[in-house]
Amino acid sequence: MNDRRKSLFVPEKIDALRPFSAPLLAWYGANARRLPWRVLPTPYRVWVSEIMLQQTRVEAVVPYYERFLAALPDLPALARAPEDRLLKLWEGLGYYSRVRNMQKAAQAVVLAGGTNLPGSYEALRALPGIGPYTAGAVASIAFGIPVPAVDGNVLRVLARLLACREDIALPQVKRAFEQAAAALLLRECPGDFNQAMMELGATVCLPNAAPRCADCPVRAFCAAARAGNAPDYPYKSPKKPRVVEERTVFVVVAEHTVLLRRRAGKGLLAGMWELPNLAGWLSAEETGAVLAGWGMPEAETRALGDGKHIFSHIEWRMKGLLALPHACPPVEDGVWANAADLAERYALPSAFRPYARLLLELLARDGM
Ligand code: SF4
Repeated sequence: MNDRRKSLFVPEKIDALRPFSAPLLAWYGANARRLPWRVLPTPYRVWVSEIMLQQTRVEAVVPYYERFLAALPDLPALARAPEDRLLKLWEGLGYYSRVRNMQKAAQAVVLAGGTNLPGSYEALRALPGIGPYTAGAVASIAFGIPVPAVDGNVLRVLARLLACREDIALPQVKRAFEQAAAALLLRECPGDFNQAMMELGATVCLPNAAPRCADCPVRAFCAAARAGNAPDYPYKSPKKPRVVEERTVFVVVAEHTVLLRRRAGKGLLAGMWELPNLAGWLSAEETGAVLAGWGMPEAETRALGDGKHIFSHIEWRMKGLLALPHACPPVEDGVWANAADLAERYALPSAFRPYARLLLELLARDGM
């Protein structure tokens, strides 16, 4: 560890910051948003909310959360839910491995004879899909265990309070922040402290150039605000550019149904249903050969619009192709789904959103 990093986390610096927790908690008590998982913070409810909130904004999560809890009100219900139902409940939130891991964790608990999440940080960490942040959040909020919970919001707040110029993408820097958060944590109310830090990051200490320092309850303790350069923090090394993939997406419609195909069990969108698609922007000859291979050589075709979808490391640039065969032959790994199936049974990843509206119109049309 170099001298510069050492100097950021010396005990004197943390000690000087310690009194910030009083105004922080007072502010949280008066300003916390009333969110469904805060009303009744059971371990299961907190866990579901924390997993949903990864990568998704609070406002967007609330309706999904309520629907999910109504359908699967407790951990045993999650453990026994059929996979397609689970994915359907998650449809629109993306990153489906999150909910699959939740189910694996629930099944592990049930298999061990439990009906609820374990009440220790280490036991939570041992479950699939539960990393240091989620374990810290569930342990502190639901069980009152004094452990930190450092998500992106908390990292940003701490980086600014401490004016830390280290790269927060580096694991050792993240660990140093977790240690700082643990040292600052109020042991008598760890759940409120962690949530207050998250709330401050989500509503006041906003990312990029938008921190609302004038409204901040801990401004008097903030090194970045004092220096007038809060937007410069946190520092993160630039990400690698995304890989761009061209794809041809087939919207194949016959007899009020659309052809869906199940993806392979590993990799991007593992095991999800999708509109069949292939790498590259295929020529008319190539798409004709593909349709013939699926047993529909006679299908009329028409070009649809372009679409784009960004995954975390990959960008799809899609060209749609409408195909209208006369019948619905069986296709390997495929299923013909009607509008009701799409609404209730099969979750279609949001990558295919550019074609979703047209698809529903086509399925509803007479004589299709
Ligand atoms: S004073 Fe500004 S930069 Fe510092 S914690 Fe508050 S909002 Fe963030």
